[in-house]
Amino acid sequence: MTDFPIQNLPYGVFRNGDGPVSIGIAIEDFILDLRVTATAGSLKSLPPETRRACAAESLNALMALTPAHWRELRARIVDLLSGEPYLVPMKDAVMLPPAVIGDYTDFYASIFHATNVGSLFRPDNPLLPNYKYVPIGYHGRASSIVLSGAAIRRPAGQAQDPGATTPRFGPTRALDYELEAGFFIGTGNALGEAVPIESAEDQVFGMCLVNDWSARDIQAWEYQPLGPFLGKSFATTISPWVVTMEALELYRAPLYQRPEGDPAPLPYLDSARNRVRGAIDLTLEVEITSAQMRARDMAPFRLSRGNLKDLYWSVAQMVAHHTSNGCNLRPGDLLASGTVSGLSAESRGCLLEITRRGADPVALPTGELRKFLEDGDEITLRGYCERAGLPRIGLGTCSGTIALG
Ligand code: MN
Repeated sequence: MTDFPIQNLPYGVFRNGDGPVSIGIAIEDFILDLRVTATAGSLKSLPPETRRACAAESLNALMALTPAHWRELRARIVDLLSGEPYLVPMKDAVMLPPAVIGDYTDFYASIFHATNVGSLFRPDNPLLPNYKYVPIGYHGRASSIVLSGAAIRRPAGQAQDPGATTPRFGPTRALDYELEAGFFIGTGNALGEAVPIESAEDQVFGMCLVNDWSARDIQAWEYQPLGPFLGKSFATTISPWVVTMEALELYRAPLYQRPEGDPAPLPYLDSARNRVRGAIDLTLEVEITSAQMRARDMAPFRLSRGNLKDLYWSVAQMVAHHTSNGCNLRPGDLLASGTVSGLSAESRGCLLEITRRGADPVALPTGELRKFLEDGDEITLRGYCERAGLPRIGLGTCSGTIALG
């Protein structure tokens, strides 16, 4: 079952063997080479800025155009696919990062995640009072974003063990993943110009999967008072294919319905359109394979399954809030959702929540127990949209293996 039927057409960047770097479009097990297509003159009905962007070595120039350009290109690609397009077998391609990511912001948009994590650290007061008003986020580190498949080195850092009165320095003993969705900024906004929520999605080019690897012991010791720092910045993995907002159009859903008694969002974070279709009905899954499972040729073990539509805050609200102080977003910037968790126990998006900070370990099919990740563990994220009467489209996979110490 492919994630990439013709209704999807996600963009990525790849190298075909020893050949030059091209932008590509995934179609089932093949890639349409957009550089070759542009150079062959097959895009000559399109504006010169679109043709130039298609021949580039990253998606930034294409992202910098407008939704009208993106729609026109997609329509032309659909036409081309009924002819004899230049296709490369996906198995011959080496995938490269889709964009030069200038800035990376990670939000905290799942109220279930925020409540579960809060209850571990502050049992009496799990959800801080600002949560229902402010889309909480922190500025992540763009330089350590890596592509799916890159090995993850266990970071060293400062942490204070339970009962200890001074911190220790050494390899983290609480390495975790976070199941997240990422949004690539397209056109962007000028410094000083806030983006109104009504047009916020015009600034979004498309989506990928994000694994925000986290060292919980380092994070717990350092996070007050200024938030996450070295417990997060050692690595973040993204998937190689960027699924456009246009492809996701049929899978939009009403925004998470705030329970009775919750405050309404402030006006700059509210619009009728956002309430009716601000969410995306996208199933998200996490699988683990330990070194022992691989040695015994065992199938991956599913740790959780959730849905992006359970987020308390939408991507439009994230963009409107991020720019509300005049902060400029630029083409290729990445906004991540924060860990996606739902109400049910099966939909908790990280080990911190699943094992309740190690108190309740997960048993793998080998009998191995996991409080947090061990060296050799491979984590794979998947995301896909599925609705009756519609084709399934997906984001592909986002994998990383903890390097052997
Ligand atoms: Mn995160």
